[in-house]
Amino acid sequence: MNDFFPPPANTASARPAEAEPHVLIVGGGISGLSAAWEAATTGGARVTLLERDDRWGGKIVTDRLTFDDAGRTVTLLLDGGPESFITRKAAAWELAGELGLQDAVQKAGNETSNTYVLDNGEPKPVPLSPAKFINSTLISTRAKLRLIAEPLVRARRDMDDESLASFVSRRLGPETLDKFVGPILGGIYNTDPQHQSIMVSSPVMREMERDHGGLFVATVARGVAKARKRKALEAQGLSMPPAFMAFADGSQVMVDTLAARLHALPNVRLQLNADVQALARNENGYVLTLADGQTLAADVVILATPANVAARLINGIDGPSAQRLDAIRHVSIGTISLVYRTREFDAAHAFSGLMIPRREHRAIDAVTVTSARFPERIPQEYTVVRVFFGGSAPHIMALNDAELRAAVQGELRLLLGINAQSIAVAIQRWPNAYPQADVGQLARVDKIERGLPKGIYVTGASYRGIGVPDCVAQGRATAAEAMQAVLAVQTQTVTVEGLNPMHSMSNKEEAL
Ligand SMILES: Cc1cc2nc3c(=O)[nH]c(=O)nc-3n(C[C@H](O)[C@H](O)[C@H](O)COP(=O)(O)OP(=O)(O)OC[C@H]3O[C@@H](n4cnc5c(N)ncnc54)[C@H](O)[C@@H]3O)c2cc1C
Repeated sequence: MNDFFPPPANTASARPAEAEPHVLIVGGGISGLSAAWEAATTGGARVTLLERDDRWGGKIVTDRLTFDDAGRTVTLLLDGGPESFITRKAAAWELAGELGLQDAVQKAGNETSNTYVLDNGEPKPVPLSPAKFINSTLISTRAKLRLIAEPLVRARRDMDDESLASFVSRRLGPETLDKFVGPILGGIYNTDPQHQSIMVSSPVMREMERDHGGLFVATVARGVAKARKRKALEAQGLSMPPAFMAFADGSQVMVDTLAARLHALPNVRLQLNADVQALARNENGYVLTLADGQTLAADVVILATPANVAARLINGIDGPSAQRLDAIRHVSIGTISLVYRTREFDAAHAFSGLMIPRREHRAIDAVTVTSARFPERIPQEYTVVRVFFGGSAPHIMALNDAELRAAVQGELRLLLGINAQSIAVAIQRWPNAYPQADVGQLARVDKIERGLPKGIYVTGASYRGIGVPDCVAQGRATAAEAMQAVLAVQTQTVTVEGLNPMHSMSNKEEAL
């Protein structure tokens, strides 16, 4: 179905709509939608958002899985991508507020509570509470003592980049890195901590070190500050947002609401099934060609696709930028949610998650129990287990659905003793589309941004952070920057056109 909304005849602007600059955004994931929201609500430009798929949201996708269970039709809402977003980075929470969605937010359990790590084929509990820590067999006594000595480790006060592995090893010791912090962080980010940039994934940890001299002291200080803030808010009859926000009807709610609100704006055009194949310059700006041959002209283009797609599109007009974009690595990721009858579910551990380090050489990367995290969403008679794959064993991406289900069930049997048969599954695959922020990423992105042709912008998970709040913040910041430039040009062009029409184009190029 082609979702195409032509611009209405009357816009709020005093200028005719065709005379307004045209901002074209490619990619209708949360980054592109947020960019469109920012650009459209700024006003003064026509905004078009193009998405290749037949739905909005990119990696934010909620499956409505319907299946038959002994003659009864059951429908479950299952997130294939993100299930929850952190609110410490406020952009997603604030956007939910703008969209009137904060009341639809429900608290999500912390991803790391009651989590196990696979260690030599055996799941071991992650020792996050003091009692678990003392009794843990996951790390040696020596490693425990090294971890406790963290406040004594000399603090780095700079904010230069390093790998997650280097940071954790430096502050908490190599065994703690190897045995549980590395697997947890690697599992959360689907990445190898030895390469992952701390300044992209967890700059807060470096801020804690810089500002408080270490993680333990900083945790206490932040806890005290948070308690004070909570008290102050409560005195005003307000409350703190939950640490992790989720939507009762799945993450897709945010995307659908955003698309609907954009749809209602007079200066916005949304187009699904719009696979952008080429980007070229013309005398006024840029022309995009879609797979169906349709062409669209734009003054400004914001590429909110993974960087490898942006590289392909830019290649025709700027080879060096394309090369720099292509240097950002992407890996594959997929999820399979398996539905079991709770009465048949026979896992050996009462777990809410299992992280699987790469060194274990398994076919899957992590397991979470959706029904434990979101008990309000899943009726008690069902247990839903979500398995992440594609990171440590990329070949599994090529399996068909039946083969994948069999391979994953085999792993669950072996690692967690789950012999029960799943009665339904929902599968999502994103081959070569999950960005990896290697050490030095922010410097690389600065260079990419400085080198882009005027009027071309890139934004999204491939650049300054992969989480949904990062993507909302980046999409909005990029659109704000683009709008500032395009509106400045518009003002100058109008002024100069009044004097000499020949000046307008060169003036525009100069300012953009
Ligand atoms: C399994 C999984 C779990 C996650 N869990 C969490 C979590 O718990 N919390 C969290 O905060 N984040 C999580 N993330 C990360 C987060 O969901 C993503 O980083 C974020 O949604 C990416 O948004 P984006 O808009 O930048 O990119 P995408 O969602 O990839 O959107 C890019 C869009 O561009 C479109 N596109 C590509 N090429 C073209 C083209 N040529 N023409 C037109 N359109 C094109 C694509 O179809 C896509 O819709 C998770 C991600 C995954 C995959």
